[in-house]
Amino acid sequence: MALVTGSTSGIGWGIASALAEAGADVMLNGFWNDTAGPRRGDALAERCAVRVAHSGADVSRGAEVAAMVGDTEARFGRLDVLVNNAGIQHVTAIDDLPEEKWDAILAINLSSNFHAIKAALPGMKSRGWGRIVNIASVHGLVASPFKGAYVAAKHGVVGLTKAVALELAETPVTCNAVCPGFVRTALVEAQIADLAVAHAMSPDAVVRDVVLASQPNRRFVTVEQIAALVLFLCGEGAASITGAALPIDGAWTAR
Ligand code: NAD
Repeated sequence: MALVTGSTSGIGWGIASALAEAGADVMLNGFWNDTAGPRRGDALAERCAVRVAHSGADVSRGAEVAAMVGDTEARFGRLDVLVNNAGIQHVTAIDDLPEEKWDAILAINLSSNFHAIKAALPGMKSRGWGRIVNIASVHGLVASPFKGAYVAAKHGVVGLTKAVALELAETPVTCNAVCPGFVRTALVEAQIADLAVAHAMSPDAVVRDVVLASQPNRRFVTVEQIAALVLFLCGEGAASITGAALPIDGAWTAR
């Protein structure tokens, strides 16, 4: 039984789909961008012969996160896999960054992980098994300019992951962070569009000369590759991997 925050699109949807394909009941979370969204959840349930539900919890609010964990346990009887994936981005110089953007990025990208982990841990500990995977970023390991709040939040996610792993080290519950480079999701499409305007370049040129310039293999990471890593971390083969911040970044952080 798995809960994936921010799983109505992008990386989260890919992870939720892979978990369902592996046989897990899944609680989706996030905002549907179109009216057909809920039907995609039903179709996933039918295709994989698992139960799929959706929580509209706003993860910027701690009480809603905790209630979503409780709802998941009530609906499925247990919560074995928690994937903290919901995230937002805002690209601007730190002296132009609105206070409310800072607060929202810290709340959604970092504090939500704390609230979900705190709520999920008692059940995982009492059942003697659990997997927590926090979707951080290369920006949890290194910085880029104009992403101050995001970089701070993602470094926080990596730090939280290490502390939780140490606290749980003698239990069968693991906690890891996954640190992707650029993945071509809605979050990055918005950055490509903004950069195209800022640099007076075509979107293709932005992808080639700006976005993928940081990523030495010059290819986007795919949602499927991240989902495969998360699935591996959920298996018994990964039982000794805990407290890790695993880059999946085409050698970005190898420099
Ligand atoms: P996305 O915009 O496609 O998906 C974001 C998801 O989060 C959506 O389901 C959205 O509804 C949900 N969400 C946003 N605010 C929410 C809130 N307040 N409450 C509940 N749900 C909320 O983005 P993505 O690229 O799939 O990003 C997913 C995660 O991966 C994020 O944490 C992001 O920082 C991280 N990441 C993305 C990239 C990339 O290049 N796309 C790289 C590294 C890390």
